[in-house]
Amino acid sequence: MARLFNKLTIRELAKMQAVRYTNKADHWSVIRKKKTHMDKALKHFDEFYGNVYGKSWKDIRTALLMETHKYMAVVNSFSDIDRIKSELETHGAMNLKTIYETYKVYLDEYTPNKKKKRKKQTRDKQVESTIADAQVSAIDSHYLSDYTSSSVSLNSMNEDEDTVVESQALKPIEMKSIESNLNEIMVDENRIVYSNTGLSGLYEFVPATKIKGMEDWILESQHYGYYKEGADFSTKIEKEVILTFPQYLNIYTFEEDNDSKFPSPKKGSTGVLDYYLLDGASVLPTLALDLQPGDVVLDMCAAPGGKTLSILQTFMPRTLVANDISKSRVKRIHNVINQFVAGIGQWHDRLHVTEQDARFIDDKDTYNKILVDVPCTTDRHVLHSEDNNMFKPQRIRERLQIPELQAAILTNALKIISVGGTVVYSTCSLSPIQNDGVVGMALKKVWEDTNSIMIVKDMREALKPLSCLYKFHDFALKYGHIVIPTLGNNWGPMYFCKIMRIR
Ligand code: SAM
Repeated sequence: MARLFNKLTIRELAKMQAVRYTNKADHWSVIRKKKTHMDKALKHFDEFYGNVYGKSWKDIRTALLMETHKYMAVVNSFSDIDRIKSELETHGAMNLKTIYETYKVYLDEYTPNKKKKRKKQTRDKQVESTIADAQVSAIDSHYLSDYTSSSVSLNSMNEDEDTVVESQALKPIEMKSIESNLNEIMVDENRIVYSNTGLSGLYEFVPATKIKGMEDWILESQHYGYYKEGADFSTKIEKEVILTFPQYLNIYTFEEDNDSKFPSPKKGSTGVLDYYLLDGASVLPTLALDLQPGDVVLDMCAAPGGKTLSILQTFMPRTLVANDISKSRVKRIHNVINQFVAGIGQWHDRLHVTEQDARFIDDKDTYNKILVDVPCTTDRHVLHSEDNNMFKPQRIRERLQIPELQAAILTNALKIISVGGTVVYSTCSLSPIQNDGVVGMALKKVWEDTNSIMIVKDMREALKPLSCLYKFHDFALKYGHIVIPTLGNNWGPMYFCKIMRIR
């Protein structure tokens, strides 16, 4: 008995010792020593994006690290549209379409070739007042008797729009061999990234990461190879001058530097929520799809369903397929649909949710619009959450293989899209490899495998009227467009690229 007692005492004593000499997880010394996955992500970004974005990285970094993040509200077309719009406007929010049209009128009127260039200050003031006018006129429409305003007429712009759309019609192009095609094809020189200019930093950045417990090494430089390989490929680039807002896609935002929050949405008369909040840059890939009545749309990587829902809000698609590879995430798409779509029965033969690997979807020539919102390093998320962080050691291999996966998904989209159809590729990463790099790789692969002809849409002109809300960073981009987070409009990053198959 005494022996047993002694044994127990010794064990207890040992435990006490352990307690005495082990600091708790929240002790300063433990906290100081422990490097989080978020720290690792930030270190990686500092090294990599510091090189790519140069001086701009400091501001991007500050915005990315802010706790709060700016959203836009998308009015739920399955609820009481007019009431919701009116309430959001009373709250001080503005319709993105109104902002776009107002700025477009202004830009059309004051373009340099019309020799009406003004000094920047005067111009900014004028734009501010035009926006304010548009805001008043929006309020007018709800409080007709109490307000008088000098609302901006958009009629002239609609006429212009028609002309522009017509002049953008695609013309058949003559087929050539790859070599001659690459030499002769009309390339917009402004969009070319020369390897001896700004990107040298990118090519030089070659940290190696050892995967513990495995005998192989993965060099980060391997995935930089993607960028180099795709960068050598040339494709036709065509200007797009206008962004069309579908009638039922009502997106509300607060202006730059206004960080007001939208109140929580309530349920309307049809039993579904009034609106949903999205990162302000997430609406751009959907707008780039240029949805038209009767479209047959595939959202290849759809979960949790934010962009699927925006597509659905337009009422445009004859068929919409929302696909994701993950069972648990497919459930989230169903949840989103249940929360926001009223009268789901009417959509049974139009809306389908599938669970497939997007690399192997083989419904060729079925879809005329495909959204490819791929998995990526989720650059904002990895700086704010340890949960399933892409920078945790167990995910190194997955992280370094992301561009390969992205390129395979995009390549498949480009292979199955019908002739005349549009593919929009998007990521929420700042990485040129995951963005233009993957686009270049996919275009090259599709050309080699199928001889299909793709053109990339240069949307800079079309996006100009939104530059009061989005900072589009054009450094080192050959194909797509990227929204950079700023303190005044803290959304993004969001890269997107619009590609059309013309043969
Ligand atoms: N588009 C979504 C939205 O707006 O809510 C976000 C998509 S998220 C960036 C990427 C998604 O791709 C994830 O839900 C992930 O499960 C899915 N995914 C990853 N690999 C995939 C694959 N091979 N095929 C299809 N989906 C995939």
